[in-house]
Amino acid sequence: MKPRILIVYTGGTIGMIEDQATKALRPFDFSHLMDNVPKIKMLDYVIDNIQFDPPIDSSDMSPAHWQDIVRAIADNYDSYDGFVVLHGTDTMAYTASALSFMLDGLEKPVIITGSQLPIGEVRTDGEENLITALQIAAERDTDGRPMVQEVAILFEDYLWRGNRASKRSADNFNAFRSSNYPELARIGLGIHYNRESLHRDHGHGSGMRAHYTLDTNVIAIDVFPGITETALRHMLATPGIKGIVLRTYGTGNAPTAAWFTEAIAEAVRRGIVIANVTQCADGGVHPGRYLAGDILSNTGVISGADITFEAALTKMMFLFGLGLSPEAVRRRMVHTIAGEMSV
Ligand code: ASP
Repeated sequence: MKPRILIVYTGGTIGMIEDQATKALRPFDFSHLMDNVPKIKMLDYVIDNIQFDPPIDSSDMSPAHWQDIVRAIADNYDSYDGFVVLHGTDTMAYTASALSFMLDGLEKPVIITGSQLPIGEVRTDGEENLITALQIAAERDTDGRPMVQEVAILFEDYLWRGNRASKRSADNFNAFRSSNYPELARIGLGIHYNRESLHRDHGHGSGMRAHYTLDTNVIAIDVFPGITETALRHMLATPGIKGIVLRTYGTGNAPTAAWFTEAIAEAVRRGIVIANVTQCADGGVHPGRYLAGDILSNTGVISGADITFEAALTKMMFLFGLGLSPEAVRRRMVHTIAGEMSV
């Protein structure tokens, strides 16, 4: 039986062409992309596709688009062995994180990839990324089960857990990194899977359940030297706001000025869920390590541990989207849902 793979083409650099007038890259259609990868036929897979119409630069990605991707996968879940999502790199980590929560109990590969250079360019990284993503989506383990049973990002030399990865380079072909979780596979002469880090039995055999509703009443606040009380209070007073991802220094430290602590504590008392996530690329929040982190944690801010910013934000949107109370969201935020944090 030939592997059956569904490609969901959302856009991104991989399928872009240069605009004649402006010389800027703009999204282009899927047939152009496929015409530039004739090698794909050598894979001997059944490959079908669903395209965004029009394809988008991923800077325009939104929760509504995530619903479309989830629908494309859920509606075709039983008919394919694996799914490849072609996506721009700019928001790829957000999409990967969101999909990891929305595709609850996923037991098939959803491999997200794209490229830094368009597929039509001589030095493109898109051809290799696309071919490797298809191979991973088709891969089986020795029991005949899908090798990858989760949402993952394939980029250049690595396969990462989707909700653990972030875009780290605007230039390098190895654009993504996951500092707090090892790679799922390393791509060399072969595809070397790291079996210990691959997700297993997530759905406990109960099948995949798609969730479509996300609540966008969630914002991010970055602390920085010089942040003013006026700015902070304005952000905390955002109408309708339910959750905040607070990006803090190092192990979760924030200014200890009374106005800062009081403004945050008052927002928590109003029922806003505030999760503390580090601005550092590696490591995570350890609230009791410094007084500055301890004071913040005493306000009722919860620790995001070693979660990425992208995963924290989409996890909150997902949990509020389930219609949970702030208290229930607080409880669920500190536990892993799809392997997004080490707790
Ligand atoms: N702006 C592009 C996008 O995210 C960048 C890329 O694909 O690499 O769609």
